[in-house]
Amino acid sequence: MTNGGNSFNFISELKPIKILFLLDEIVKPMQLVFATHNENKFKEVSALLPDAISLLSLSMIGCHEEIEESGSTLLENAQIKAHYVYENYGLACFADDTGLLVEALNDAPGIYSARYAGEHGDAAANMDKLLLELDGIHNRNARFETVIALIMNNGNHHFKGTVHGTITHVKQGEEGFGYDPIFMPKGFDQTFAQLPLETKNRIGHRGKAIQELISYLKSV
Ligand code: IMP
Repeated sequence: MTNGGNSFNFISELKPIKILFLLDEIVKPMQLVFATHNENKFKEVSALLPDAISLLSLSMIGCHEEIEESGSTLLENAQIKAHYVYENYGLACFADDTGLLVEALNDAPGIYSARYAGEHGDAAANMDKLLLELDGIHNRNARFETVIALIMNNGNHHFKGTVHGTITHVKQGEEGFGYDPIFMPKGFDQTFAQLPLETKNRIGHRGKAIQELISYLKSV
């Protein structure tokens, strides 16, 4: 009896503005930064995350610098980016890093995929160099790997997505980006640049890693 009376008094004594503040605290979505400057990637991931998560890009938190990827593995690079945001902005954050690993080249270009031919992001030159390196080589097996590093108050986590396939002899298809015109996923007779984006997202490295991340976020 006494307890019930106390709680009623407690609520009735709160000013309306204070009640609104308390409600806001209860229903507020979790803020999470995706450490990328790539708007397409941001939109793609944002559409997949549950409503309970409010996704922020680097520009939305005022971070305009290029975070240097100085690690020696995909995981280290992803962790460097996620750590940078967590340390400097105090916000939960995840970052991804992707590489193309070619079996006959001892998993090159790997972490150097974006700058394989020198200039960062010159996809045509990167593909030409890779086709030249594989000229006359029978083993065309390759895989894309994406690693996502997540840092939240409860610690560090990481997720991985892999797709196996082969490197074609010539470029095929116009869609996608990077090495898509020369990567044919296992079980398909078209390259990533010929397949619908929906298929690429479903069977692809990044899509798989993101689904792992989402399952984890839904479980906490
Ligand atoms: P990032 O870590 O996502 O920036 O990827 C590094 C590099 O890997 C890119 O610059 C591309 O060259 C290559 N890459 C990453 N994802 C893909 C993909 O889905 N298709 C083709 N190339 C990719």
